[in-house]
Amino acid sequence: MNKKKEKELVFLKPSSKHDLINRLLQILELFKLDSYKRVSIISFFSNYFDMINVGIKISIMDKELYLYVESKKDIKIIDGIFDDFEYIQKNNFIVNKYKVILANNFKLNKEIIDKINKISVTRNSLLEMNHELKKKAYYDNLTNVFNRNKFNELLEREMARAKRYKINLSFAIFDIDHFKHVNDNFGHLVGDRVLVEFSSLIAKNIRKSDVFARWGGEEFVLLMPETSALDAKKVAEKIRNIIANNVFEIVNTITCSIGISEYTDNMLISKLITDSDDALYFAKENGRNQTVLSGELEK
Ligand code: GH3
Ligand code: MG
Ligand code: MG
Repeated sequence: MNKKKEKELVFLKPSSKHDLINRLLQILELFKLDSYKRVSIISFFSNYFDMINVGIKISIMDKELYLYVESKKDIKIIDGIFDDFEYIQKNNFIVNKYKVILANNFKLNKEIIDKINKISVTRNSLLEMNHELKKKAYYDNLTNVFNRNKFNELLEREMARAKRYKINLSFAIFDIDHFKHVNDNFGHLVGDRVLVEFSSLIAKNIRKSDVFARWGGEEFVLLMPETSALDAKKVAEKIRNIIANNVFEIVNTITCSIGISEYTDNMLISKLITDSDDALYFAKENGRNQTVLSGELEK
């Protein structure tokens, strides 16, 4: 083996952020780096993990270890902590190259190379992980529709668009009627399955431009751009009928109540939501399994 020649190592995929940190710790253990550097690397990775497009490549020459950290942003936090540091621009990426002097007793033998090959990571695997993390951040775990956080983000965007271009925007809250009975009578797991089927029935019957999300518990929200309140009510009634006529596994039939509000000039997000909530409350009070428009309450 030519020790003078730089040795690049093949990479494996970590399954999670935790896995990545563990693998890095194992690499550092192999090189017997002192704890100061070790801590720096770990804090560096935990700080930058959320950033899109980060990758690590490792190579070794003699008693020097090189960590190539590839990213879309320049990384400066560990500047100065390592023995040597430089960065190179490559396509759209910045490659930060860190040189670390290895422990005196370090020997680059086949066993160590094999071990590192098992431990290291690639940018692609990080991109995949980033995608997974994003999925977790945007989607509800149970039903796979958008979660409340993502919905709020899209709601803000659609409200700004409605305001700017003076287009209609309607908002609906769907609440399953007596859902507590479903859990009480059939158990929580059956309740979960109802939530999945309920949301998928709605998702199948809306337009691409509509935004549908789980608001929490057995409540779902639907944002309908370029739709007046009256048209939104037609959509909601169509969905309500589909739900009421659907045969759900084990529980058979369920119904839901719907409250609808419409965006008007300069309305606050909180007002759009409370209007819809008030309409939903009215629907519940008046016998459930119905759609109520917030505008109807004011009359
Ligand atoms: P109403 O018609 O007035 O809406 O009655 P409700 O029983 O649907 O409303 P309530 O708010 O009293 O109960 C909601 C229930 O939804 C209680 C809660 O345990 C259940 N729930 C919330 N989230 C989940 C979930 O993720 N899975 C299951 N199985 N149940 C859930
Ligand atoms: Mg509820
Ligand atoms: Mg309910």
